[in-house]
Amino acid sequence: RKHKRTSEEIYHQACQLIPGGVSRNTLFHKPYPHYINQASGCYVTDIEGVQRIDFANNMAALIHGHAHPQIVDAVIEQIRKGTAYTLATEAEVLHAQLLCDRAPGFEKIRFVNSGTEAVMAVIKASRAFTGRAKITKAEGAYHGTYDYAEVSQAANPTNWGDLNQPNSVPLASGTPQGVLNDVIIYPYNDIERTLAILDEHADEIACVLVDPVPHRVGLMPGKPEFIEAIYKWTRKNGALLAFDEVVTFRVGYGGAQQNYSVKPDLTALGKIIGGGFPVGAFAGRSDIMKVLDPRESKLLFPHSGTFSANPVSMTAGRVAMELFDEEAILKLNALTKKAIAQIREAIKIADVPVSITGAGSMFRLHLKSKAPATYREAYQNQETKARVDEMLDYLFYKEKIMMINTLACMFSTVMTQKEIDILSQAFLNMFKQ
Ligand code: PMP
Repeated sequence: RKHKRTSEEIYHQACQLIPGGVSRNTLFHKPYPHYINQASGCYVTDIEGVQRIDFANNMAALIHGHAHPQIVDAVIEQIRKGTAYTLATEAEVLHAQLLCDRAPGFEKIRFVNSGTEAVMAVIKASRAFTGRAKITKAEGAYHGTYDYAEVSQAANPTNWGDLNQPNSVPLASGTPQGVLNDVIIYPYNDIERTLAILDEHADEIACVLVDPVPHRVGLMPGKPEFIEAIYKWTRKNGALLAFDEVVTFRVGYGGAQQNYSVKPDLTALGKIIGGGFPVGAFAGRSDIMKVLDPRESKLLFPHSGTFSANPVSMTAGRVAMELFDEEAILKLNALTKKAIAQIREAIKIADVPVSITGAGSMFRLHLKSKAPATYREAYQNQETKARVDEMLDYLFYKEKIMMINTLACMFSTVMTQKEIDILSQAFLNMFKQ
């Protein structure tokens, strides 16, 4: 169908109704965001009729790109039978089986509707199990919008404090002081400082929250020695190790956690496990997950959700994850590796100070010659942020390429050599500008 209105006109109406005209601040774009008409595979077409290659994939949620035929068929079949009931469906159990079979640490699992909810449930389960209130998370790490998980997300040089004891910086104005008091911040991949910080709260910490490849920190993989040191600390001090694999589950068949010799006690999941529909899940040790079991005489963590495990998300997710098997992952990660090699070549040819971090099918560019090893090194000041925005606009308008606003790419299985050639050429053109 032909659109009668332009993106600019729709945005004008949106601004009368929605603060800033957007429901997701990450989609805000000046002078106006572009409205989508349709998408298929790795191509997205806006209502002006411009087609772009999508390397953002709904912030890493679409592992098979847009409208994958097998997912679409399965979902349509389910939708005809209803979308949500006040009773359970087998779709939930089938998806639970599939996911629990993928990672040895997933003894029990529960579904929710977003990554935010998954992280929230992991934190609450940790508190219920340990009887402790405090949690600890990495400086700058993004874990969704639960009060506790948000702390330090936007820490910046004016407020992040001493690296030996990073500040618990609130994100939303009005965050209660009590929340800040209960969130301890550690510097990612810095074993010595992190252990010293944890030691100060040794018998108060319910869980140490770790993203094995934290995007906003800099998309650098957690060092095995770092993860192992935290794991050992949690064993010694009665705390739980909780992984946020909302984004990183795509890295391996059993998530990024399969790359470490130690297993988390609990894991938060989301994004790709919903096959393009809203989803979240949390999985882990049976004895911990028992806090959710309504058969227990004392239910420690009552938990529910109107759309949790709805059969549409469960069906789409199961089909998507069935397709995302060992072979598909190897192929996708190899293609991403090739793309990174080609972009490195472009960086060399153009002789620009750009570096790349990442893992599996994800990578992020940094506007410095040496790849950042810490959040504070990866932090983009206003000047850098302005240059990044300029680059994103160049790629979007001139090269017809969509990326995540940190200069990150999240690949999908429907991409081929053709798309990575276009991507690396686009970068070369941009670097030479
Ligand atoms: N954890 C991480 C690591 C994430 O990247 C995100 C979303 N970008 C979340 C949690 C929250 O997920 P959701 O947006 O589905 O609430």
